[in-house]
Formats: sequence, structure tokens, C-alpha cells
Amino acid sequence: MHALTGSHGFVNILITEEQAQNPEFKKWGKQFYLGFLPYEKVPSYHCDNCDKYHAHSPKIEVHITDLIEDRPNTNVAYRCTECNEIVKVERIESPKGIDKKYITFDESGDWRPPTTEEIEAEMKKAEESAKKGEGCGLASSGYSSHLKRALHWAGKISYDIPQERVERLETTYRSSYLKIFEKELPGLVEAIKDKSWGFSKRVDEHSGISSFEGSFLSEMLPPLYEALPLIDLPEDTELKQDILWILLRHTDMYSKSVEELNKEKRKIEKSIIREKRKLADMIHLKKLYVRKSGLKPEEISESE
Ligand SMILES: [Zn+2]
Repeated sequence: MHALTGSHGFVNILITEEQAQNPEFKKWGKQFYLGFLPYEKVPSYHCDNCDKYHAHSPKIEVHITDLIEDRPNTNVAYRCTECNEIVKVERIESPKGIDKKYITFDESGDWRPPTTEEIEAEMKKAEESAKKGEGCGLASSGYSSHLKRALHWAGKISYDIPQERVERLETTYRSSYLKIFEKELPGLVEAIKDKSWGFSKRVDEHSGISSFEGSFLSEMLPPLYEALPLIDLPEDTELKQDILWILLRHTDMYSKSVEELNKEKRKIEKSIIREKRKLADMIHLKKLYVRKSGLKPEEISESE
């Protein structure tokens, strides 16, 4: 019997001599190199939370999420049957051959078909998230990850999610998001004004990024501009003026940037003219010398 130590205790496993001699296992003591072990092979464990040795198998739960290096990310959790604490979690190589009864979550739906309850639970999460308007812009809603999962699972078992239901999410989200945005507008405007130093495209030598990016204004402003035409402006003259101030500062930033680029352009144009003159001088000089020496330019380049 081997003990595998976890963060809240240890589990005892029964493995063959051959498995125990697996050099990778001996070296790392990781279940990753043994593969999945069913209840019979995990006869007992110690739970630190109960501070007790249990002479029976823990609960075994397999959790499969997205791919890591082309392999399904498969984790086995050993959970105490008494207090429900996770005694140990271990990543294994593949979900291949694992009895479905152990699989508590499968993102892919490939190893255990999703149930309609699971799909409905995801849809419910999406609907609640949309109702709360969770997201960082009209195009980056919080509900979309739940919807994506629900649709993916539904596809696996040909479960019907009506198109109107998906569209309703979009409209619900849109109106909730904008309502919240209206409420949070004064705070956002205040935060942007605090970063007034960031309205500059000048690049910092150390970080290699501009003040505009470094101040996060490049991330704070797009949601404001996206929402402005769609929301009702509050009857707050000061706030309205502050928004105009932001627009002016931002416009000014680009006009300065264009001005500086033009300055650089003129400088470069001047040096091109200078270099062209020198080039013409050199060509002339070379021609004169070739004529005087009686050599051919091809002979010179060959001799090099
Ligand atoms: Zn316990």
C-alpha cells in the first residue's frame, strides 16, 4: 500500500509491484503516471479536516476541463465522505477508460454525455448573468461563456435550445448593462479624470508602452464611447461638462500626436534629401575615377 499525500490529508492506494516500479512514479510519486484508480484501489484515507483515519474509500470525482497540450485536463479529487473536504487532487493523463459514474464534470461532453439538467443549469446561469448586466462592454458579456457551454453540450445530445431564448439573452443583457452603466457613469468619469496624465501617446522608455496604455485609459474609454449614444444623459451639468472635457483631452492627444509625427516626417524628408545629394556626389566621383584609371567597375568588385 502506498500513501499519496494531499493538501488535506493522504489517500492510500493499492498498486501492483510493476506500477510501483514505474520509474516516473518512483521519481515523482505522482498518480499521473499510474492512471485512474477506482474505489477498490483506494481503500482508505486520512482527512486532516476530521483529523481522522477512515477505513473506507473516499468519494472519487473526476473533473474534465479544456485541453492542455492537446490532452483533456483531467483531475481526480478525493473527497472525505464525512465532512466533504477535498483531501487530495491529482491530475491524471487521460480520462480514457474511466467509468462514467466517477465523472462529475466534463466540459467537452465527450467522456460523459451532458444531462438536460446540466444544460438547463448553464442556461439559468446565463440568464441570471444577463439580467444582472454582468460584462465589460456590449460585446463582452459575462453570460456568453455559460451560453457557449450550454450550446456545446446541447449539440452533444441534440437538445433543443430555441433561437428566441438565445436572442432574449442578448436583449436582456443589453438593457441591463446600459442601465447599470448609467448608474455607474459618474464614478467612471471621475476615475477617468483622475488619470488625466494618461492622455499622451508618449512612450515610456522602460516599459515600452505609452502613458495612454499605462494609465488604462485605453481600456476605460471604449466602454464610455460605446454607451454614450445609447444612454440617457443625467441632468447633471457638471457631469456633462466633465464628459466633454474628456472628449476634448482625447481629441487633443491625437492632434498632438499627429503634429509630432508630422515633425518627424519633415525631419526624415530633410535627411533623405541630404543623403540623396551625397549619393549623387559619390556616383559622380566614382565615374571620374573609373575613367581616369582605365579600370572597369566590374573588375574591382570581382577582386574583392
Ligand atoms: Zn473529513
